[in-house]
Amino acid sequence: MKAIRRFTVRTVLPEAIAPLSTLATNLRWSWHEPTRRLFADIAPEIWARTADPVQLIATLTRGQLQAVADDAGLVSRIQGLGADLQKYLIRPRWYQSLGAEAPACIAYFSPEFGIDAVLPQYSGGLGILAGDHLKSASDLGVPLIGVGLLYQAGYFKQSLSRDAWQEETYPVIDPDGLPLSLLRETDGTPVEVRLPLPAGRQLLAYVWKADVGRVPLLLLDSDVPGNDDAARTITDRLYGGGGDHRLQQELLLGMGGVKALRAYQRLTGGAAPEVFHTNEGHAGFLGVERIRELMDDGLSWDEALVATRASTVFTTHTPVPAGIDRFEIAQIQHFFQAGLAPSVPVTNVLALGAETYQDGDASTFNMAVMGLRLAQRANGVAKLHGVVSREMFAGLWPGFDQEEIPITSVTNGVHVPTWVDPKIVDLARTRFGPAPDWSEVFQVDDADVWVLRRELRSALIADVRRRLRASWKKRGAADAELAWTDEVLDPDVLTIGFARRVPTYKRLTLMLRDPVRLKRLLLDPERPIQLVVAGKSHPADEQGKRMIQDLVRFTDDPEVRHRIVFLPNYDIAMARTLFPGCDVWLNNPLRPLEACGTSGMKSALNGGLNLSVRDGWWDELYDGRNGWAIPTADNRATPEERDDIEAAALYELIEKSVAPMFYGSERVAGDSGDAVPHQWVAAIKHTLATLGPAVSAERMVMDYVNRLYTPAAESGRRASADDFAAARTAARWNERVRDAWPSVHVEHVDAEGVTDAPQIGDVLTINAYVSLGGLSADDVDVEVGYGRVSESDHIHDRAFADLAPAEDLGNGRARFSGTLVVDRSGPFGYTVRALPSTARMANKAELGLIATPA
Ligand SMILES: *Cc1c(COP(=O)(O)O)cnc(C)c1O
Repeated sequence: MKAIRRFTVRTVLPEAIAPLSTLATNLRWSWHEPTRRLFADIAPEIWARTADPVQLIATLTRGQLQAVADDAGLVSRIQGLGADLQKYLIRPRWYQSLGAEAPACIAYFSPEFGIDAVLPQYSGGLGILAGDHLKSASDLGVPLIGVGLLYQAGYFKQSLSRDAWQEETYPVIDPDGLPLSLLRETDGTPVEVRLPLPAGRQLLAYVWKADVGRVPLLLLDSDVPGNDDAARTITDRLYGGGGDHRLQQELLLGMGGVKALRAYQRLTGGAAPEVFHTNEGHAGFLGVERIRELMDDGLSWDEALVATRASTVFTTHTPVPAGIDRFEIAQIQHFFQAGLAPSVPVTNVLALGAETYQDGDASTFNMAVMGLRLAQRANGVAKLHGVVSREMFAGLWPGFDQEEIPITSVTNGVHVPTWVDPKIVDLARTRFGPAPDWSEVFQVDDADVWVLRRELRSALIADVRRRLRASWKKRGAADAELAWTDEVLDPDVLTIGFARRVPTYKRLTLMLRDPVRLKRLLLDPERPIQLVVAGKSHPADEQGKRMIQDLVRFTDDPEVRHRIVFLPNYDIAMARTLFPGCDVWLNNPLRPLEACGTSGMKSALNGGLNLSVRDGWWDELYDGRNGWAIPTADNRATPEERDDIEAAALYELIEKSVAPMFYGSERVAGDSGDAVPHQWVAAIKHTLATLGPAVSAERMVMDYVNRLYTPAAESGRRASADDFAAARTAARWNERVRDAWPSVHVEHVDAEGVTDAPQIGDVLTINAYVSLGGLSADDVDVEVGYGRVSESDHIHDRAFADLAPAEDLGNGRARFSGTLVVDRSGPFGYTVRALPSTARMANKAELGLIATPA
């Protein structure tokens, strides 16, 4: 029988256990082990099946709830944890010790948020990073608000067909059954966000709120009654479809997101965001919406742009040009002409994303380029990725050296309480009290570490066996054929994990390059390894699916299937058992295409050692003692040669270094296998003590606050003070400088003090004759850059010295003069350049204007 109408009945809790409601709906439970244990103890079977407090409470009958309320022990825990949560939500934290210059509120926009398996609104690293950002912001007391979309079917669930082909299903969520509340007006009607669409249509969205500890997360949902069918499906899937569908998602996220924030602020009386952070380019239209707000208030485009940029931070995550979000300019025009931002000239919007630079395509609208043009501060997500990003986007700042491209880096981190296994936390708390320090690990006996590692490995193996059996049943096998799955993997064998999305550059199948050699490693009689592999391929990526198929077919071989498994449907729930259970975490991307990578960090926090190509975070944090670096073939190799070389290096490392250390000379053959490999345990301790603090998302969020959010808040306040006086001045000045710049020339340079035999310590006086193109000498900085020169006359390790205005030569010309000290031996060179005055800008490259001698 089919229901004609469905609704969700909200449970009414007995008074004594009323705090359960907040404990279940505030997602802090997802990283608060005592709260998780409480739910597990209230209903062990439901918890084991769902790990979802909201569902758990909804499933309990009135009688069962009354039984909980009659259990004095449970009641006292519920009351205690409820009070603890209330304290967590208001108690001053790290952020409350900062000065008033720190922003009153920060808006953090992301297309996906991976907070917990119960809220499947993420596809991979980007979303989980955003989730970890919110959780750490909450722990640190950072006044952040997350903004995203609520997808009716988050990312797909992966299963396998009999012949190992990836199959996708899209389970549809029921927002009423999730830890979400609908944002409502004071009269109880849902808050509505509206965007006009072409052909007189409109897009309407409701706003759901999730509580991530102290941090509210606003999620826009287009599946609402007032929309036509097409508009209802705009938030149907994460990264569903391409073209207009995707563009409308991004318009809703960016422009609708700002409107949702304003409504939230209006209803709660909270502070307005002083900083807007765009996590990757997808939410970039938030800048256009903010410009629209300011232009509605009477500012010009240039003034509004200055003010908006000052308080915007853009983070890029994509080191591959093909990975960047692009649209046709005409498409953007089509949507904006419908009146998305009536006060904003459409041509100006189009110019924000146009690839109007060398090697760009001027008919393409590039979301990353718009991100950079709309944000005064930008960053990549690891040091190496900073370098790659500066190179990739250098075209936007022609004439500047790569080091000067204004994109810095903040290395990603992971949320420690989410990703460290509770068994490790228990051990640390029992030994060292409530707030143990990572370095205390050195006080733990090697044997205790080793016993714990075996427990974690065993827990993973139990989970693997369960998942493998379930997967085979889906693939059509009968129980009678599956007895072998109860025997896969061995709790005393070196366990290597590899799990991530499956784009080509991550090279899921590199380990299969020489199948005979891999087999030998798996089946080694003395020092075998076992491999646990997982990962989803993008549904449209046939090549990725073929890689999964190749791998699964290898694992299906009865000769090796007890030593290598592929687990379908990699997600947060699987990850939380997988990382702690692996001794070694393998990562072999094509360097430098991994922007940061975070799974290896999660492994390290659980005492896993990384075995990885020096890419992303591992390039800066590998220290020779915390794991292994897989050498990279130089870039003269063809892709085929490169795979051969790097795979061979990987096998070699496992065979000669990883396995011998794991099985340890201390653990002689014939021994019962319980002897401890002290060298391995020493590497675990070193890893925990050194990487623990470095890879934590608290470190990351503090970096964002100190290096990006606070400076952005300060420049934003400066720009908007006194009715945007500074923004107006800056806009006028920028325009004057831009107009004049084609006529600014460094005409001639001479130097005094150059001898036939130059020596270190020689002082040179440099004179530069500059034509100012109608600007005054105060409007420009003239500087001499000097240093060691290469064969090609490129200046390396260069330093700068300022040249001061020394003489007005008339006719808009001036001489600038200053000295430099020859400070190094060998080939030495200098050059002069003129720039718009840096005192008026955040950095030298800000306006992308520079003049050098012809
Ligand atoms: C950490 C994590 C990722 C991201 O891993 P990368 O190393 O960045 O590829 C993806 N999916 C899940 C479930 C994770 O936990």
